[in-house]
Amino acid sequence: MRIATFQVGGERRVGVVDEQRQTVTPFDLSADEAQDGLLALIGRDVLPRTLNPIPLREVTLEAPIPRPKRNIFCVGKNYHEHAKEFASSGFDSSAAQGTVPQYPIIFSKVPECVVAHRAPVFFYKSVSSAIDYEAELAVIIGKGGRGISKKDALDHVWGYTIINDVTARDLQGKHSQWLIGKSQDTFGPMGPWAVTRDEIDLQNCHVKCWINDELRQNSNTASLIFDVPTLIATISEGITLMPGDIIATGTPAGVGIGFKPPKYLVSGDVMKVEISGIGILENQLLEKAA
Ligand code: MG
Repeated sequence: MRIATFQVGGERRVGVVDEQRQTVTPFDLSADEAQDGLLALIGRDVLPRTLNPIPLREVTLEAPIPRPKRNIFCVGKNYHEHAKEFASSGFDSSAAQGTVPQYPIIFSKVPECVVAHRAPVFFYKSVSSAIDYEAELAVIIGKGGRGISKKDALDHVWGYTIINDVTARDLQGKHSQWLIGKSQDTFGPMGPWAVTRDEIDLQNCHVKCWINDELRQNSNTASLIFDVPTLIATISEGITLMPGDIIATGTPAGVGIGFKPPKYLVSGDVMKVEISGIGILENQLLEKAA
């Protein structure tokens, strides 16, 4: 099942997407409940009743969770080829851990950086001149917990969405901790919607990214260094995971920093991320005057 958060008639709604019919069928939620987007459904045993379908072209998609309740957990260097390209980039403040990390590298993005499919991603040249893209499968936690075992981990997953972990490489390198370079306003495109966990085969889930129709990233979650159960077990070992928490699982090789010379984004570039079983997340990068 595909669940979208969207605006129609000036109101936020949450509904089921039918890609074949190109419709979205809203749930009967109060305006207050719908403010939370997909979070309004997580943890319910029975889904609310649905209203009449609306053509997708008549709605404006929002991020499935427009404002996460907590920082988004993110994973650094979680594909072998990307770990190599990043380690040799000169921007890797985690280099002391070695090229391939022994334990997952976990950082976070602030909730306020989340934007929707097709929303612009803005940058200021006075702040950063090294903007990069990162296509990632994101896990949405359904059932919280602490000390979750790898064996039980997938039972705690509600579903998945796509995140483009947009990054200011120069800030990522300069500040050692990655939060500033990863959390600039609008640097968290998420969407176009979320899918329930049964829609994704983690052993064969393609992750691709195009910049202006040039295929830059092309991999599969089967190549993750630390798989989804390992990530959930690692984070929840001492941090209680909550329903609605999001874990961006890391990006494959082919980011701009991996090219020699680097292919940083310029104003007007269109980033298109596709993950099999979910869909396409597309956002344009635009420069803003300081
Ligand atoms: Mg990333």
